[in-house]
Amino acid sequence: MTTDTAGPATLPTDAAGTDASGTDASGTDASGTDAAATVARLNAAFATGRTRSIAWRKTQLRALRRLLTEQEAAFTAALHADLGKSATEAYTGEIGLVVNEIDHTLRHLDRWLRPSRVPVPLALRPARARTVREPLGTVLIISPWNYPLQLALAPLVGALAAGNCAVVKPSELAPATSALLAHWLPRALDPQAVAVVEGAVPETTALLEQRFDHVFYTGNGTVGRIVMAAAARHLTPVTLELGGKSPVVVEPGTDLATAARRIAWGKFMNAGQSCTAPDYVLAIGGTATALEPHLTAAIRAMYGTDPAKSPDYGRIVNERHFDRLTALLADGRLVTGGDHDRATRYLAPTVLADVDPDAPVMREEVFGPVLPIIRVPDLDAAIAFITARDKPLALYAFTPSPATKRRLTAETSSGALSFGAPNVHLTVPTLPFGGVGESGLGRYHGAYSLDTFSHTKAVLDKPLAADPLRLAYPPFTPLKNRLLRRLL
Ligand code: NAD
Repeated sequence: MTTDTAGPATLPTDAAGTDASGTDASGTDASGTDAAATVARLNAAFATGRTRSIAWRKTQLRALRRLLTEQEAAFTAALHADLGKSATEAYTGEIGLVVNEIDHTLRHLDRWLRPSRVPVPLALRPARARTVREPLGTVLIISPWNYPLQLALAPLVGALAAGNCAVVKPSELAPATSALLAHWLPRALDPQAVAVVEGAVPETTALLEQRFDHVFYTGNGTVGRIVMAAAARHLTPVTLELGGKSPVVVEPGTDLATAARRIAWGKFMNAGQSCTAPDYVLAIGGTATALEPHLTAAIRAMYGTDPAKSPDYGRIVNERHFDRLTALLADGRLVTGGDHDRATRYLAPTVLADVDPDAPVMREEVFGPVLPIIRVPDLDAAIAFITARDKPLALYAFTPSPATKRRLTAETSSGALSFGAPNVHLTVPTLPFGGVGESGLGRYHGAYSLDTFSHTKAVLDKPLAADPLRLAYPPFTPLKNRLLRRLL
């Protein structure tokens, strides 16, 4: 698949670093080339050792930042073409997030990479021990369509910061963003160390047959299992950033108007197609009905009386997802929304009440603008509801009670737990981002990305001069045994 026509005419400054100068970027576009050859090319670049230098890493990160700044308009247009994403959400949820991730990484990289001295047990002294982070080699990043720029580039920031080469496989369901990434990444970054492979299942399958040093996958759990099985053949470690049903607990006594505004904002951004979006509300007692008018008012305040006309409201990615979502509209009493138009893949922000916990809308991740409200009598029932199901990517709660916060923290398991605001935890670069159980395996962002994309090597340096180790050499004697037991 050729992508050379995708990008604007002006190229950003070549930031590939001294080793890459003079390379013909267009000749290194991995699209249409053999997956094995792409991986071999990147492995060869890694073997030169140049990606290990901190200077190379910082050059790549600065070049990526410059690309995002210089081509912001083009990326914003691509995100609009793919998902009807507004310019504001294109910045706050995609471009700006990656820029922040780069800035945070550049600020702390030297410190994160400093070898860390660790103490040595008495029996082994004299000796010095430290841990050293080393790059893994060539990594594969497979990203989905819902945040097609952020979810391709935020892992790439970690991969490059850790000194790796990387193949990026964007989602074919966001073709405009995919084409732009394929056009620009090999031009802006070291083209021998970073490749973009566009395509769908056949192309990804061909990549997964190769031996990588890490596979970082974001998407659904069904494909996550395929990725993990393929990686297992090479004993390649994986990170799986998956999804699931993220509940929002609402307890009496909380400010319902503010809670409704924040839930509606977190749910309906990107037309509900966010992995961390509130999936359903677990409303305790009277909050179930009390929340309804507040949610309706919040949606109206954000998107107007006809959200189809709002420039700030997105569209469903394709007809398959549109049909899946509209089939869920009958699963409860319609509080607000429900309007839809297949031709434009518009589905209004929708709230369903009196939802049966066994209804189809409660059996799968909604991943769209439909918000079911489930009524539960008390906090015990809410906790029982959550713990009886798969561990969610995020758990949210609106409660005035410190005791409730303590109980939810101690008695439930989720990738993240956030009180008072959905989604925003992922913008805190000092927090890990990732799931647990069905919602994923591993974590990234900031220093956690460096952990994911590095090997922490144990280094021990024991001088030969003094040799108390002799105590451990045979022949063993009662005296040696007594001394060893005392030292260990
Ligand atoms: P998708 O369809 O774009 O698939 C993701 C990637 O997998 C794509 O690059 C695609 O080409 C590839 N792929 C698809 N089928 C494959 C196969 N059979 N073999 C190999 N590769 C294949 O995206 P999606 O899975 O629909 O994404 C939505 C899901 O992702 C939701 O469950 C959502 O919650 C989750 N998600 C999680 C996060 C997170 O950070 N945890 C972020 C976004 C989305």
